[in-house]
Amino acid sequence: MGRSITRCISYDVPDEILVERMSGRRSCPRCGAVYHVSQNPPKRDGYCDKDDAGLVQREDDKPETVRKRLQEYMVKTEPLRRFYETRHLLTSIEGVGTPEGILAATKKALGA
Ligand SMILES: [Zn+2]
Repeated sequence: MGRSITRCISYDVPDEILVERMSGRRSCPRCGAVYHVSQNPPKRDGYCDKDDAGLVQREDDKPETVRKRLQEYMVKTEPLRRFYETRHLLTSIEGVGTPEGILAATKKALGA
């Protein structure tokens, strides 16, 4: 697009918290609604609030798959951090806390 990158944001979250966040996700195979067993549970355990379909855990969200994806991230994506870091374009933000707090830190990093 002919534009240069002026800031790169990295959200830092400990692996175990990522595993907990992702492996707690449950999806509705009928309408696509997404829940979380502890952060956003359905009214009736295991069933969609909207259409009562049984919720499923996607293959991508299983703990062993999440850990494998984190290992792949370290190999494939982590080098990008160093790339932006050496060019002084990287801002790391603690990706733990409330969505509002993380948004505020992001806006601050972008000067917005
Ligand atoms: Zn549903």
